[in-house]
Amino acid sequence: MDDCLFCKIANGEIASEFLYEDDEFVAFSDINPIAPIHILIIPKTHIASADDIDEKNSYLIGKIFTIASQLAKDMGLKKGYRIVNNCKEDGGQSVDHIHFHLLGGRQMLWPPG
Ligand code: 5GP
Ligand code: ZN
Repeated sequence: MDDCLFCKIANGEIASEFLYEDDEFVAFSDINPIAPIHILIIPKTHIASADDIDEKNSYLIGKIFTIASQLAKDMGLKKGYRIVNNCKEDGGQSVDHIHFHLLGGRQMLWPPG
């Protein structure tokens, strides 16, 4: 996707410091963190939202949780963390390239509002 912000970050068009990278994913700090640790994990391939997950690409979601768990260990989040995906307008999604927020370093509240 030519004008997708997260595609540009993933393919290096917008310089970013990656906290994790492999052939299929990158992870980087959120520009506007809402917790001491706030990392975004995204697939390099453009998938607009969780609503576009299907039988062919669903394996990516399991991998994202594995990456989140590894990052949480790397970041010392021994007491836990939260993984969030906002899906489309009512879900609060503001960037239309699927991403998972890894949030940690403070007590999370529920319900989130
Ligand atoms: P959403 O609201 O779609 O679930 O999350 C999008 C997230 O992307 C927000 O937390 C926002 O702060 C973050 N974000 C938006 N633009 C940029 C950017 O250019 N760089 C980084 N690192 N994060 C961004
Ligand atoms: Zn994209």
